[in-house]
Amino acid sequence: MSTQQPLDAVIVGAGFGGIGSAIQLKKLGYQNLAILDRHDDLGGVWHVNRYPGLAVDLPSPTYSFWFETNPSWSRMYAPGPEIKRYAESVAAKYDVRRHMRFNSKVESARWDEDDKVWQVAIADGSTVTARFLITATGFLSQPCAPDIPGLADFGGKIIHSADWDDSYDLDGRRIAIIGTGATAVQLIPELAKKAADLTVYQRTPIHVVPKQDFAIPKFVQHMFARVPVTQRLFRWFTDMQCTLVFLPAVKYRLLRPLVSSTAKISSLQRFFAIRDKELRKKLSPDYDFGCKRPTYSNEYYQTLSKPHVRLETLGIERIETNAIVSADGTKTEIDTLVLATGFDIWESNFPAIEIIGRDGRNLGKWWRSNGFQAYQGMSVPQFPNYLGMAAGPFANSGLSFFNMIEYQTRHMDRLFGELHRHNATSFEVTDEANAHFCDRMDKLQRNTLLHLGNCAGSRSYYFGPNGETVLRPTTTRRVLAEQATFPLNDYSFS
Ligand code: NAP
Repeated sequence: MSTQQPLDAVIVGAGFGGIGSAIQLKKLGYQNLAILDRHDDLGGVWHVNRYPGLAVDLPSPTYSFWFETNPSWSRMYAPGPEIKRYAESVAAKYDVRRHMRFNSKVESARWDEDDKVWQVAIADGSTVTARFLITATGFLSQPCAPDIPGLADFGGKIIHSADWDDSYDLDGRRIAIIGTGATAVQLIPELAKKAADLTVYQRTPIHVVPKQDFAIPKFVQHMFARVPVTQRLFRWFTDMQCTLVFLPAVKYRLLRPLVSSTAKISSLQRFFAIRDKELRKKLSPDYDFGCKRPTYSNEYYQTLSKPHVRLETLGIERIETNAIVSADGTKTEIDTLVLATGFDIWESNFPAIEIIGRDGRNLGKWWRSNGFQAYQGMSVPQFPNYLGMAAGPFANSGLSFFNMIEYQTRHMDRLFGELHRHNATSFEVTDEANAHFCDRMDKLQRNTLLHLGNCAGSRSYYFGPNGETVLRPTTTRRVLAEQATFPLNDYSFS
């Protein structure tokens, strides 16, 4: 299919980033949109991930659109299906679902300089043309299978956490799980409730801190609905709580002691949950809290102390048709293998589709030879009318995905306002503005935990293939403030 008239915008991805961008574009007067997603429904990671125990690991009031607070969160940390329902209700309320086209895998986007439009190619062979291109492809979308000899020959059931088989009964199974990241920390207690025995293959231990999770009573939900200011106040409180966790990572020189005090909370949790000193030692990270994405659980350590659960840390030598063989030759017979081995963050996501800008500049190749960079985490020289939402270099400011979308939509407000004032059809960030911004980010990064802390043994995806980092090294407040003040001549308009 090829549309005659170009659309106002194509948004790639129907998760929260795509929904937020579409709402913002509609607010700015652009109604002719297509939101393309390769999956069969909206919600992004909250549509794809369905593993047992899935829940948000930030307080739900903070993990929601600032303009669409949800008084009905059932828990402080809402379960996955509730977040998916929230995505559905926001998309319905702001009438963005009708712009969504599912099962539409975008392969590439190419800037057409003559017509000043983006040509977006879809896997079924069709092309969509639009004035603006927004990628909201997230960064947890390409599941990683481990490269372990024999994996393909395993005769039992293999399930990746991001491709859960709801019809598979876990009761009485002999289960192994590979990985101890944020997903595994949620999954392991649930698997242990069903398994005859469970072996957890850990390569790098993770800091786990208590989760202040509780059911939000109905009367409180009613109060939030009737007196919205009470909900605003609650959100302010949970925002502050999250800020306190992330701030020391950004202001490491100043707040270093806070990093070690959070690590102590994690170690105290281990101390009270686990009697076996050897097991405690195996679970103790030797890198600073914050080098890796923090995890929250009140059950993880308790589960690992159960008699039918075993932690294996020697490394996996190979997988056989019915067993995993550890480096010391120990063979563990299993019938179910769960891969909680995460996602390919760097190779597949920067960018998630091929994007060719002005003069044939290929974004992926350019980033790989010039460093991963994006002005204000969103725009790149020689990519006119293109914005990367929510997952580009320097986009992630730490607090929550939604705070990131908030500052990015504020950026859009100002940028599109200026576009209209110039009566222009396209915008493009200048080389100078981008270089200046990236220099500033590079300097600020030198004060952060990722650069000054002890992260050597963390194997964290916060670090790229060459040790680079692209987390925004400023506070969320500062990032928000910058959107009201960035120089408008950082962009050229034509
Ligand atoms: P992850 O953090 O990348 O963890 C992957 C795990 O698999 C790590 O423990 C890793 O060990 C292990 N692993 C990978 N390949 C291996 C191999 N070949 N042999 C042995 N172990 C291997 O992935 P994730 O747990 O899926 O979490 C990804 C992100 O999703 C999180 O950081 C978080 O941002 C997000 N998440 C969010 C929520 C939420 O509620 N909002 C919930 C879950 C996840 P190493 O550490 O040694 O590499």
